[in-house]
Amino acid sequence: MSALQPVRGTHDLLPEDMRRFREVADTARRAALCFGYHEVATPIFEFTEVFKRTLGDTSDVVTKEMYTFTDKGGETVTLRPEGTAGVARALISGGLTQHLPLKYFYVGPMFRYERPQKGRMRQFHQTGVELLGVKEPQGDVEVIAIGVEFLRRIGAWERCELELNTLGDTASRQAYRRVLIDYLNDFRDRLSKDSLERLDKNPLRVLDSKDENDQKIVADAPLYSDYLSPEAQDFFARVKGGLDDLGIAYRINPRLVRGLDYYCHTCFEITCPELGAQKTVLAGGRYDGLVGMMGGPETAGVGWASGVERCSMLLKETPAAARPIAIVPLGEAAERKAAQIAGDLRRQDFMVDLGYSGNMGKRMKRANKIEAVVAVILGDDEIAKGEVSLKLLDTGEQKNVRLTDLEAALAAYR
Ligand code: ATP
Ligand code: MG
Repeated sequence: MSALQPVRGTHDLLPEDMRRFREVADTARRAALCFGYHEVATPIFEFTEVFKRTLGDTSDVVTKEMYTFTDKGGETVTLRPEGTAGVARALISGGLTQHLPLKYFYVGPMFRYERPQKGRMRQFHQTGVELLGVKEPQGDVEVIAIGVEFLRRIGAWERCELELNTLGDTASRQAYRRVLIDYLNDFRDRLSKDSLERLDKNPLRVLDSKDENDQKIVADAPLYSDYLSPEAQDFFARVKGGLDDLGIAYRINPRLVRGLDYYCHTCFEITCPELGAQKTVLAGGRYDGLVGMMGGPETAGVGWASGVERCSMLLKETPAAARPIAIVPLGEAAERKAAQIAGDLRRQDFMVDLGYSGNMGKRMKRANKIEAVVAVILGDDEIAKGEVSLKLLDTGEQKNVRLTDLEAALAAYR
């Protein structure tokens, strides 16, 4: 441990990173807004129970990845590893289930104690949407369409693939659970320790194992799709039909299961092969059981979360910083006038940089360094005449402008 190093798995977002981050987060927000979603923010920590109860005792997140601590009042709290549980908790504590359907968007930091690697951090950020109180498959289609629209807008959708599966309903799951246990029981001596534990508590989880040997065993397991109830099949058919209608391409992946306990029916992931091992950029599904499981009224839900850092890697370019206007005063009187002019322009929402000291040469150098688009140069002579000189820094072109006309002359650089 060194106080001069960031905590392992955390990152600073310096201006360039931050611009990529903003581009991703703002685009996701904009896409969600276009579908009538509203932005919300829940606290970044909750009582540990909120996650334990919803994510399930056998999930990787709960067993290994949670940042949990006891606060000074003796409460056990956890830094949120994901956003859905907090939104569901807010729905219940705010009595919002009276106002369904609700359409929410969020963005913010999440925390998981994972082994850091490319695309996998201990503090990372997610954007996400939650559609609450809609049990129809049209809801699943809408939520997926938001994700696709978001990725299309950041120029990534063309390089991505949507994988789709169904986790069915309770009846289907019970039927499948039995055959899966029968199948996996024959491999008890070869399954990983984690999977053995899951086999007893929540066998569907074994399908989600990251262990290579487990994956080989799972590859020949009976397929869930063969055990779906007619209702679950119909629901899935309508989701697929809705996506077809919108021209959204997908690939059915019968092995796709979400890591979390509360999912049912639709589950999906959008992956981008160019990211390598950590290639899932957006993942989600339907979670009709969640709010009820937390102690609220039974409430349908469907949503997704997307890793901002992984999406940032897909941006082809770093968005350029907005270019400021530099004010360059020559002499003491001009310096005072410059401060006034800067104030006036800033009140009109111009971006203005005013250096703190230095002669003309030093100040012009700085103007170039900060990539100012134009310099407003003023000396004692100009002030006396009520004028300033504008210099376009890309072309070197220069002209005098009356102070009273300055705002109009700069309008193009706001
Ligand atoms: P993985 O299989 O990669 O561990 P997950 O199933 O744990 O993913 P979700 O809980 O579905 O991931 O989170 C949704 C998205 O959030 C992921 O697809 C990914 O883009 C992002 N994400 C998850 N964990 C991390 C992390 N530790 N660092 C960066 N991004 C992450
Ligand atoms: Mg994970």
